Amino acid sequence: MPDQDTRPPVGQFEGGCAFADGAFVPLSEAKISLFDWGFTRSDATYDVATTWKGAFFRLDVHMDRFFASMEKLRLAIPYSRSELRDILHGCVRAGDLQDAYVAMVCTRGVPPRGARDPRMAQNRFYAYALPYVWIASREKQREGIDLHISDRVRIAPESVDPTVKNYHWMDLVQSMFEAYDLGRDTSCVVDGQGNVAEGPGFNVFMVKDGVVHTTDRGVLEGVSRRTAIELCGRLDIPVSVAPLPVERFRRADEVFLSSSGGGILPIAKLDGVPVPGFPGPVTTRIHDAYWAIHDEAAYRDPVDYGV
Ligand code: PLP
Repeated sequence: MPDQDTRPPVGQFEGGCAFADGAFVPLSEAKISLFDWGFTRSDATYDVATTWKGAFFRLDVHMDRFFASMEKLRLAIPYSRSELRDILHGCVRAGDLQDAYVAMVCTRGVPPRGARDPRMAQNRFYAYALPYVWIASREKQREGIDLHISDRVRIAPESVDPTVKNYHWMDLVQSMFEAYDLGRDTSCVVDGQGNVAEGPGFNVFMVKDGVVHTTDRGVLEGVSRRTAIELCGRLDIPVSVAPLPVERFRRADEVFLSSSGGGILPIAKLDGVPVPGFPGPVTTRIHDAYWAIHDEAAYRDPVDYGV
């Protein structure tokens, strides 16, 4: 990376900053080509990390997943891990953001005109930081999120490896339209065997008789899902990672979502039917522990704002 780009001035692009074509730019100036296969074919992978109170949360885990996803898709970026870290820190620093949504994206790029061979495309890298994005607003969380369980089947893991964070979201987006038509707040989809899978930007959990359950297949292995499972270990809460049939899910004592966009989000209703325990003692413990570990040094990578 060129010297002048390694440390953009603090607040140079106040409120949000992108890194595109090797340079830090204001969000409004970041562009991709109309012919990038990332756009025309969803041929891309990405990851979203967050900063909270001026520090990245589990950035190493997000970077591990991003590099693993690129390898699985035969994508590559011209940056080392430490250069990637500098770019992401640079976006947050230039945006002067404390609580931020920080995306890193690698697309297939543009093959030479007329060529259809993905090996001929030069992969592209983009990053950007925005103010923190919540899956559901804080008011909605207090009021209680109503989750629609859609019949829509998540794209098969045999077709698209769900452990690669991807833009294959048509199933998820259509399930959101269904949810809104029904007056619900958000949605989750199922796998081909009638088990609850995941939703637009989150993994799904239920608590039954003191045991926390989440599916083991067909979903992105979310960093916040992993954090929730690890916290259950710390808190001595038993966890089952196994298929989660919809009919069992509808009888849950507690339900919560996990996402980098809001952490642990308790669910108040499933398709309009109250979840009896909302927000629930188990969910509340995991929620509180999730935010508490944001202050632990091992999970923090502080941004250098130069002050
Ligand atoms: N599942 C899908 C489809 C997602 O897009 C996301 C995040 O965007 C998640 C699950 C949750 O992943 P994480 O906890 O890493 O944010």
